[in-house]
Amino acid sequence: MRVSARKPYNHRRHARRPLGLLRTPVASLTALWRYYRAFYTSSKSALWILATVEYALSYYSYKLIRTHVTHFKMCVLLFLTVEQKKRIAVIAGDGIGREVIPEAVNVIKASGAAVELTDFDWGAERYLGDGVTVPPDGFAMLGRDFDAILVGAFGDPRVPSNIHAKEILLGMRFKMDLYANVRPVRLLDASLCPLKGIEPKDLDFVVIRENTEGVYVDAGGVFKQGTPDEIAVQEDINSRKGVERIIRYAFEYCERHKKQDGSPRKRVLMCDKSNAMSYAGGLWQRVFKEVGREYPQIAAEHMYVDALCTQMVRDPRQFDVIVTNNMFGDIITDLAAGLQGGLGMAASGNIHPGKTSMFEPVHGSAPPIAGKDVANPLGAILTAAMMLGHVGLAREAEKIEGAVIEAVRQKKITQDIGGSLGTREAGEWVARRVSQSGPS
Ligand code: ATP
Repeated sequence: MRVSARKPYNHRRHARRPLGLLRTPVASLTALWRYYRAFYTSSKSALWILATVEYALSYYSYKLIRTHVTHFKMCVLLFLTVEQKKRIAVIAGDGIGREVIPEAVNVIKASGAAVELTDFDWGAERYLGDGVTVPPDGFAMLGRDFDAILVGAFGDPRVPSNIHAKEILLGMRFKMDLYANVRPVRLLDASLCPLKGIEPKDLDFVVIRENTEGVYVDAGGVFKQGTPDEIAVQEDINSRKGVERIIRYAFEYCERHKKQDGSPRKRVLMCDKSNAMSYAGGLWQRVFKEVGREYPQIAAEHMYVDALCTQMVRDPRQFDVIVTNNMFGDIITDLAAGLQGGLGMAASGNIHPGKTSMFEPVHGSAPPIAGKDVANPLGAILTAAMMLGHVGLAREAEKIEGAVIEAVRQKKITQDIGGSLGTREAGEWVARRVSQSGPS
């Protein structure tokens, strides 16, 4: 605007250089094409940089207010009308992961979610074929090129060392620094809970498990191996930074998330074993008190892990948000999954706010039931819904959750939770229900 006010458009100059006139429509079309591509392939920040550069170019090359304004209008129109697809990496992995993830993917497609899905063959089969667990640059590529990752499970009896599972799954958690393992514990229907008198409204808590430290870092060693004097040491690593960020994440989660019935979350409970493990437990205790003071509106509670297990079975109504370390989180969420109907019903997200996060069902590859079309796909489907909610596709996520609840009510489910359908039939039923529930 300023340039054209100072220096009016020079028709004679353009007449001397007729190609200059052509440049405007050509450049506009090029710019449009770039905007379009950017919407489909880049993050919003990249898009803004591109838009600014294009804008500056049009400003200096044409010095024409009208072109300038038209460009801006087209830009705004495209921002409003073109849908940005979320890029999802899909790694089904091993065992029942290869059965339940295709069902979850079909349900995502049926929901009409604006996603671009890319499959990766990482897992035992690939490892046995070419010895590769994670291709070079694999984790950097996932972080750079994708908005989220949907994972099945890893573990195969043909790889007894489980090296590929460690390198892929723990690699993703550690190297991509996905420090918060969020595991919602929700009862979808009273029939699924082995406890008497527990209704869906009674079982709605979430476990926030530290995901990058603890005993899972594999620090330690053996001394005098194979002798009667053998000593094995397994270190439990707890850094101030790691403990503080997971505890803060739990308080933030509590503040920002509501329960299924719409009521606010109000309590964060820290679970440890500080009476026996005083060094690590002491750090967790101190940090929990310090961080808790920053959230006076949230009740900060504590329970030893053994007492918590008893309470979870006696009265799970009392829990809201639980934060704990890597190992206790692993164990108590298997127990909690039992209250939801079993491992086949539990979903989880491995999250680093602002970075590409990974979503996986809580269950493992379950070799004894793999390949038999009996695995419950609902945990993987709920995981897909959790992932869609995380990347901003909340309506699609709600549609999927609604269909899963309906599947449970109508007993369109697998044997492990009292139904008679196979993995594929159960997945197809949910996908059909989702597509019937109309556009999102
Ligand atoms: P990991 O250590 O990798 O988490 P895990 O040792 O906890 O694995 P899983 O592979 O999760 O064990 O499965 C244990 C058992 O739970 C299975 O053998 C199976 O009986 C049952 N199970 C797990 N997932 C499912 C599912 N989706 N559907 C039905 N049963 C399941």
